[in-house]
Amino acid sequence: MPYFICPNCQTRSFDEDGREGLSHQSIGCHQCGFGFLFQLLEDYFPHAGAGFVVCDAESRILAAGQGVFEVSGRLEPSLIGQELRTGLHLTFAGDDDPIALTLDWGVRQLEKPATLVHAAGIEKQVICDCFPAYDQDGGLLVAISPVTT
Ligand SMILES: [Zn+2]
Repeated sequence: MPYFICPNCQTRSFDEDGREGLSHQSIGCHQCGFGFLFQLLEDYFPHAGAGFVVCDAESRILAAGQGVFEVSGRLEPSLIGQELRTGLHLTFAGDDDPIALTLDWGVRQLEKPATLVHAAGIEKQVICDCFPAYDQDGGLLVAISPVTT
């Protein structure tokens, strides 16, 4: 059973019969009206304060959800079209590149520590969960959550 999550408001849903279409792009969010839902292989519960970013197969940002401004201080219009790591000033810890792993191998990468530079210039520790897209265009969804201490 495919699971879906709204990149904007993070409402989770599942598709009992696939009636609304095979591509995630054909189903909008019933909760907030966002244009499409992101399909997940397994259910996922976002961390508190998470912001979702949807990227294409070259990790360029296609959409940024509600929580992204809070995490990064950046609004969606300033992020669209930018490479994810560049646009959000996101640096993963060590040699880990979960974005490339997700895109290349099509497997989710969870709990990846990273540093993000907030628009106000403050460095923040965040945790990233990365999910591959299952449509033919590829791409991924990244959930960026602040590390709570
Ligand atoms: Zn929504």
